[in-house]
Amino acid sequence: MNSIAPFTRRQFLSDASRFSALYALAGVIPLPALASSVADDPRVSQTPIADAGFASVRKIGDGLYATISDTSKGFVTICNGGFLVGKEGGLLLEAYGSAPGAAFQMDTYRKVTQLPVTSALLTHYHFDHSMGSAFYGANGIQLWGHAAVPKRIMESYVAMQGADRAAFLAPAEKRVKDAKNDIAKQHAQGDLGAISNVFDLANKTPVALPNHPLDPAKLPLNLDLGHFPIVIEHYPGHSGTDLIVRVPDQKVVYAGDLVFSNAYPACFDEKCTMSGWRSTLKTFASWDKDTLFVPGHGPVCGQAGVQSLRDVFDDLAMQADKMHKAGVPLSDATDQYVIPEKFKNFAVFAWGFCIAGAISKLYAEMGAV
Ligand SMILES: [Zn+2]
Repeated sequence: MNSIAPFTRRQFLSDASRFSALYALAGVIPLPALASSVADDPRVSQTPIADAGFASVRKIGDGLYATISDTSKGFVTICNGGFLVGKEGGLLLEAYGSAPGAAFQMDTYRKVTQLPVTSALLTHYHFDHSMGSAFYGANGIQLWGHAAVPKRIMESYVAMQGADRAAFLAPAEKRVKDAKNDIAKQHAQGDLGAISNVFDLANKTPVALPNHPLDPAKLPLNLDLGHFPIVIEHYPGHSGTDLIVRVPDQKVVYAGDLVFSNAYPACFDEKCTMSGWRSTLKTFASWDKDTLFVPGHGPVCGQAGVQSLRDVFDDLAMQADKMHKAGVPLSDATDQYVIPEKFKNFAVFAWGFCIAGAISKLYAEMGAV
């Protein structure tokens, strides 16, 4: 089950080590799986039921498990996810950055139960959540996702397959060459590394597209695995394809990339909306004070984690507004944002993916571009 053609786990791990440039700014410090505010939460088990280094799996409720990635130890899973086990079957979340990542989650699921897997669900289409989908295809597991996910995967990643690498990277390389100062050059170099890695990953990865699309107009979807009610909902913000999985009885939310915990949000997507995302976070903040969130990246958190992310959005908006009022053109503003002291430990996957993306979208929403 672990050797999904055409690459073995070992091959992938050696390839995945080249991913380091993408996460250079995320630091090499091992990431805690839990935010300190939820470390004593009785729903959350202190000891993982599986720990592969690059990800660990913890029980976070009755039949609820969270898979938490630590990219300082490898890029097999990259994102967080988890699984839900009812009395009749289970639901797996995310396909991760590679098929061995999805296989790790399946192996852990089998440690907990022999019940059939009802389906696997992608919270959205991004590569770090979807590139392992061939594992589900090869194992006959139905793959669910927002109805736009197949199209977005085709346009974003399948379109890279067989494309001319040099031509594809030329605009990012030009940005490095034309950088006006050291900071801009450093940002551009990080972005070039990130874009190169996504290109290379897409080119060596066979992808399975979701075969059970969920029409957002027909959501929320109530799901019954024979234990507790599960609700699948769509919210705007990160990618235009974002789904969350909510277990209201246990106050647990698998939030996908609508929540980044202890990290700057990735705002590069053409369907990312800053106003939409901020209003989604306002909704999340209105839920019960004891709500537990499994974020797309970073440690499991409570409402304090959502509040920190809202504070990051407020700071991005405040600095963008100030620069706009001072007449700073967008091409300079994207590099001039300063990470405040209180967020200096927050991970930034790549400047362009996160901060430049956010500033561009904020300028656009102000009608400045
Ligand atoms: Zn994402």
